[in-house]
Amino acid sequence: MSYPKLPHDVNSPVHPVSAMDYMPVEQLRALQLHRLQWTTKYAYERVPLFRKRCDEKGVRPEHIKTLADIKLLPFSKKTDLRDEYPMGLRGADMDEIVRFHCSSGTTGKPICIPNTLDDIHVWQNGAMRCLAMYGIRASDVLQVSYGYGLFTGGLGLHYGGEGMGCAVLPTSGGNTERQVMLMRDLGVTAIACTPSYFLRIIDEAKRQGVDFRRDTKLKHGIFGAEPWTKEMRDAIERETGIIAHDIYGLTEIAGPGVAGDCDEHNGLHIWEDHFYPEIIDPDTLEPLPDGEVGELVFTTISRCGTPMMRYRTRDLTRLRTEKCPCGRTMRVMERISARSDDMLIIHGVNVFPGQIEAGLLRIPEVAPHYQIVLSSSDTLDIFEIKVEVSQEAFSDNIAHLENLKRRVLEAVKSIIGLTPKIILVGPGTLPRSEGKIRRVIDNRRK
Ligand code: ADP
Ligand code: ZN
Repeated sequence: MSYPKLPHDVNSPVHPVSAMDYMPVEQLRALQLHRLQWTTKYAYERVPLFRKRCDEKGVRPEHIKTLADIKLLPFSKKTDLRDEYPMGLRGADMDEIVRFHCSSGTTGKPICIPNTLDDIHVWQNGAMRCLAMYGIRASDVLQVSYGYGLFTGGLGLHYGGEGMGCAVLPTSGGNTERQVMLMRDLGVTAIACTPSYFLRIIDEAKRQGVDFRRDTKLKHGIFGAEPWTKEMRDAIERETGIIAHDIYGLTEIAGPGVAGDCDEHNGLHIWEDHFYPEIIDPDTLEPLPDGEVGELVFTTISRCGTPMMRYRTRDLTRLRTEKCPCGRTMRVMERISARSDDMLIIHGVNVFPGQIEAGLLRIPEVAPHYQIVLSSSDTLDIFEIKVEVSQEAFSDNIAHLENLKRRVLEAVKSIIGLTPKIILVGPGTLPRSEGKIRRVIDNRRK
């Protein structure tokens, strides 16, 4: 396979690691087919569960003749990884495994993903291509405030940053006071963390009297690992003057760096030369054409430690059909607004936390901190939203607060069509998170 040409001349601002991003589509499809055929054969020979499921369906690796034939293959799910815990889906021999990552899961056993050195390099390549796309270069100082450890956030951005030649500051999560101090003292230009943790850093900076524009060199925020809205992005950029980039990934498929947004900020390019995406109807499991919303499914086509075949992410999105004006040929998915298991059914209506977030962020006097609390009375669901009032808007003027409450309610109601009870709370009173935040407390009887 010849290496694709850079789209611009040698003086191009495009970083060499980005060359693959612009690969001609035909060449890309040929590479994907080649890798899919290889992965199918590899997983069939090495992963008993995959072989058993293929045999049950009467599918053999040689039946994969085109990319569309992927639909012949069986799906995999998080429960498979749990049932086969700890290492039932491992493809490579133990002497090739160099690192494990586990994802928390919210209940029960975690899932465990063994990685080979090549897998780590594929992942690092994805993270580097995201950073390069954001405009991050060797001269940048990158503070990695994602948790280090079993969670993929910390090490994923760490390797990506080092690969780009950045000066990496591995603060991990926590000790927010020190995070702000180091950011200022070391001239940090880019920070990577969950969007909810960045809100906490903003709070702490305010407390210390640190103004991002005046007192820091911060230019880039690399946010992911949890759903966040465009409205949240705008609020963060307005408040701090940085550019907020979106990074997507999951432990099962690699970690952060599976996809990221380009300067268009209109969806995330998927590095589909390694992570082959499909969108399916979550009910019928039929593949949907590009452009339709459904569940995102990934097949890893160049990983050996744990080859994931048609893995159902439960994330909801659609793949854009339009070419991206930035010139990259890798397909773009819309930002993940929700996980299918985040959907709440309240009074019979489907509600996603992101819709509530989008409504709240229309009201400048409320901070982007909120929590949805559901409980049940004898007959009905009780639906409350606790919303923090910003420091500037906080007062003990009852009429003022009542008016604010009414506007918050109207903003939420206009989006979800339901009338929750709005509870305004004082600045800094809702729980903060160093990792992924829990936006919903559902105490309803199941
Ligand atoms: P867990 O399932 O335990 O949360 P991970 O830490 O691997 O496991 O998280 C992966 C999930 O995080 C994704 O499937 C997705 O739901 C969410 N996620 C990651 N990045 C983003 C992002 N940029 N936008 C929205 N959701 C994201
Ligand atoms: Zn683009």
